[in-house]
Amino acid sequence: MTCALHPGIRVSEIFGPTIQGEGVLIGLPTVFVRTGGCDYRCSWCDSLHAVDRRFRHDWEMMSPDAVWQKVIALSGGQPVMVSLSGGNPAIQPLGHLIDRGHSEGYRFALETQGSVSKQWFADLDVLVLSPKPPSSEMTTDWAAFDACLEAAQDKPQMALKLVVFDDDDYAYAKDAAARYPQLPVYLQPGNHTPPRPGNEDAFIDMAGVMSRMEWLVEKVTRDRWFEARVLPQLHVLLWGNKRGV
Ligand code: SF4
Repeated sequence: MTCALHPGIRVSEIFGPTIQGEGVLIGLPTVFVRTGGCDYRCSWCDSLHAVDRRFRHDWEMMSPDAVWQKVIALSGGQPVMVSLSGGNPAIQPLGHLIDRGHSEGYRFALETQGSVSKQWFADLDVLVLSPKPPSSEMTTDWAAFDACLEAAQDKPQMALKLVVFDDDDYAYAKDAAARYPQLPVYLQPGNHTPPRPGNEDAFIDMAGVMSRMEWLVEKVTRDRWFEARVLPQLHVLLWGNKRGV
């Protein structure tokens, strides 16, 4: 049951524990709460089943308590990092879930493109801001992005994560990093053969992903961009396009 005090959360899937496959928490055992719905529609989105409204019938409106019970069941009641992802999890009311989890010793990380800010960002343990580069065909609203940093009030550990497909994306990543010198930067090669909903075991061009990774490493080192960290998507290396791992 949802209630006015604690509104429902639109959930696409809850799974784990598995490892975090990307960015600042890479390799850390994690339970994922993937919310449904996104205010963006990136050309290469790898989570369309949680974005495209055609799949909204697979999403479930759950009370924070129901989400929490699922997290407890998956983790066996042992505190673990909970990753709030999507879609854009920032458009969901997640404050109560975070409070509830904290009271039982769990930690929360959230990744968002930075288009919507919420007061409860300050309650997160980790906030990953992942503005989308030109290849996404989205336009970044930097004022909205700044509002996310303001809402977080420097309380969570924060990082910038940037997907890079090409030279334009790389230039965008450098601009974003220069804009926010206080944030550590994680670069990630894009997956140009992302999963399609209903066919998550579809072919992935791993050789293409790895050659983009090599290209990115060369570019960063040649540029002497020594603050950037270049990371693959670990789950893609392990499981390709498979969903729920
Ligand atoms: S912001 Fe993320 S979830 Fe939303 S469309 Fe873009 S890649 Fe997909």
